Amino acid sequence: MIPMVDLKEQYHSLKAEIDAALQEVLENTHFILGPNVRQFEEEAAAYLGAAHAVSCASGTDALHLALRAAGIGPGDEVILPAFTFIATAEAVSYTGATPVFVDIDPRTFNMDPQRVADAVTARTRALLPVHLFGQPADLPALQAIARRHDLVIIEDCAQSFGARRDGVMTGTAGLAGCHSFFPSKNLGAYGDGGMITTGSEAMAERLRQLRNHGSTRRYHHDFVGYNSRLDEIQAAILRIKLRRIDDYNEGRRRAAHQYTELLHDVVETPYEDPAGTHVFHQYTILTDRRDAIQEALAEAGIASAVYYPIPLHRQAVYREACRDVHLPVTESVCERCLSLPIYPELPPDTVEHIARVVRRAAGC
Ligand SMILES: *Cc1c(COP(=O)(O)O)cnc(C)c1O
Repeated sequence: MIPMVDLKEQYHSLKAEIDAALQEVLENTHFILGPNVRQFEEEAAAYLGAAHAVSCASGTDALHLALRAAGIGPGDEVILPAFTFIATAEAVSYTGATPVFVDIDPRTFNMDPQRVADAVTARTRALLPVHLFGQPADLPALQAIARRHDLVIIEDCAQSFGARRDGVMTGTAGLAGCHSFFPSKNLGAYGDGGMITTGSEAMAERLRQLRNHGSTRRYHHDFVGYNSRLDEIQAAILRIKLRRIDDYNEGRRRAAHQYTELLHDVVETPYEDPAGTHVFHQYTILTDRRDAIQEALAEAGIASAVYYPIPLHRQAVYREACRDVHLPVTESVCERCLSLPIYPELPPDTVEHIARVVRRAAGC
């Protein structure tokens, strides 16, 4: 079976280093907010070119805490795409604000800035772009809209760790960048984890307090916070993997470019915006023969996945509130998208084998 993502090979290539780091944490027993968390935050901030990085328990929490720290709550509107993982919208809903879904650019799958501009109202407080599948959203256009209407930008970087737009890392363009270290993400831990990057000292301070029961001094609590911390074991693992993230992303790009070379004449292969560096969290094609291709792949023992089959405005949770929302590009992409296996270590002859099966099933 060829899986969507193979985490075993990476672990085995790092085994000696990771096992030693884990052993050290176990002996040290400083499990929460210890030295590895502090150093990982410093190293990740330096890598991303962010002034501050505050780790937390998951990417979902990173989004929630960032929105909370930005003061977003009931009565506010947040503009986001409907073609994303549910967590992007859930984080908005947790705060009591209203998620306002807009359509995407059919080439990049990211929020269409024109649709964003059309959706701004007097209640809009924030733009929440997602760098979907690892392709940076059109940040300059979103920044112009944010400036014009005095909005904050909170980036969902869960799929884009290490991706750049105009040479600048995603997660540093707005008030906050929200990262996920879910095991299958580009920078993956061995459990849940997340982080917020920000250029604002005040924001970082508030986030540190929010993630730790509203406290900066032990047993002094200034407001209702959360228990949302990255643990020391995950931080130790992430420090080791962070040193190799550029190689990992390069491996994904190599596999993606090979797929595109082999498939561009039979399906719609991913567009790469020349202003950005796509880090291919997913390799997602568009095709009218999705079912046939999936079936042929399954028969050949190759995994494939539909990210995402149902847009958020048509999910049971938001359907009623979004009765009048129509997003034709999003809806069409949901019916035609198909993601193929991709991970840094995916061998070229396996890409070739998968592409051969896709070509045959695409009717060529
Ligand atoms: C994975 C993901 C999240 C949530 O991250 P978790 O760490 O799983 O909570 C949020 N947004 C997007 C786009 C994601 O892919």
